Amino acid sequence: MLTKLLIANRGEIALRIHRACKELNLPTVAVYSEADRDLMHVKMAEESICIGPADSAGSYLNIPAIISAMELSGADGVHPGYGFLAENADFAEKVEKSGFQFAGPPSEIIRTMGNKISAKKLAVKIGLPVVPGPETPIGSNYKDEAKRLGYPIIIKAAAGGGGRGMRVVESESKLKENIDITKAESKFAFGDSTIYMEKFLASPRHIEVQVLADRFGNVIHFGERDCSLQRRHQKVIEEAPAQGIPTEIKEDIFNKCIKACKEMNYVSAGTFEFLYENNQFYFIEMNTRIQVEHPVTESITGFDLVKLQLRIARGEELRIRQEDIKLTGHAIECRINAEHPQTFIPSPGKILDYHAPGGIGVRIDSHLYTGYVVPPNYDSLIAKLIVSANDREDARVRLIRALEEMIISGIDTNLEMHIDLLSDENFIKGNVDINYLETKFKTSD
Ligand code: ADP
Repeated sequence: MLTKLLIANRGEIALRIHRACKELNLPTVAVYSEADRDLMHVKMAEESICIGPADSAGSYLNIPAIISAMELSGADGVHPGYGFLAENADFAEKVEKSGFQFAGPPSEIIRTMGNKISAKKLAVKIGLPVVPGPETPIGSNYKDEAKRLGYPIIIKAAAGGGGRGMRVVESESKLKENIDITKAESKFAFGDSTIYMEKFLASPRHIEVQVLADRFGNVIHFGERDCSLQRRHQKVIEEAPAQGIPTEIKEDIFNKCIKACKEMNYVSAGTFEFLYENNQFYFIEMNTRIQVEHPVTESITGFDLVKLQLRIARGEELRIRQEDIKLTGHAIECRINAEHPQTFIPSPGKILDYHAPGGIGVRIDSHLYTGYVVPPNYDSLIAKLIVSANDREDARVRLIRALEEMIISGIDTNLEMHIDLLSDENFIKGNVDINYLETKFKTSD
């Protein structure tokens, strides 16, 4: 049963989830921190409960507070969104043990995928191609392993996430030092110093596959997304479909992802992330949650992934089959952040004027309104602007038009950067890899 849903998140994704619930006639409970009383979805939800201070450790990451809010409000299900507790296996397990529904996969899958070494091990077992490198923590033979892989290599924190806990090593002389630093950073940031190494791919694209599975073994994919434009390993612009990948190579990876889901009894929405270079896919990780960029897939398929996730959470069997998923046209999303355009320093504050763009093919997922105060405590993402059109070039031009229409005043944003990026010659040609944004736009400092 799922009769009332608690939204364990904030900002645009909380509103996105609320909208899906509304269409499913599912009452919602908003939980919010003391800094977030004025959030749009808090005003719209049937019920709302303050769960703690502005600091997310005491509120959005506070498992006992969220479980208590469920008990108090009579919510029998929870959607974690992305970030915060979305990939916290302890939280999912607590929800399961309390007899509530979780809009995500079983906690043991979250646990396995949450550790990059165990995820890689599982990926190999279920037939996914992985980046070359041992599926074991770095041990005493690290020099030989690195030599065998060939430099450059990348050292990664097993518990890493959000683009943190990674270091590229160009030569043996820098190896020991970088191992020690990554270990220390990993311990500090993630409470776990386990690290591993793999081949560093010089100029791959980031391509990911969206899947959805129900509790009855039905698994479908919704095609791929290209998220190569990144800054500090964080996505900035995403699009679907990806350009220039031969159909048979795509079909092969889709089939492998579906088989992988079946092998591990995956449930809910999930994303297999790959690096793609020289016509080869290399698995890097699986996100066991809805992703920020899911709207581009919704735009080219017409399906509401969050609604489907909620239907699965309430025990329904998927009514759509693979042949119902038709990819039409092209969609591009840009992440609009409250940040200084040159320094990228977050720019919280009061929105003095807000105007959302509109017109054909334009979607905006945002919790902003005039007078809203962006608090300094959380991620700087304030809006996602998504456009769709018949083809990539029409979508690109439309997105620039929509960005030019958009007004957010009172705070700094990266709106202009998006216009520059979308007007870039290599972006127009689809000729970008994961290093492109940082090297061409010199945004790494
Ligand atoms: P996180 O969980 O922090 O998001 P990922 O493993 O998904 O980390 O990697 C994030 C990004 O880091 C990738 O999209 C890519 O840009 C870069 N990256 C990760 N592994 C490699 C690799 N082996 N070679 C080159 N770049 C990599």
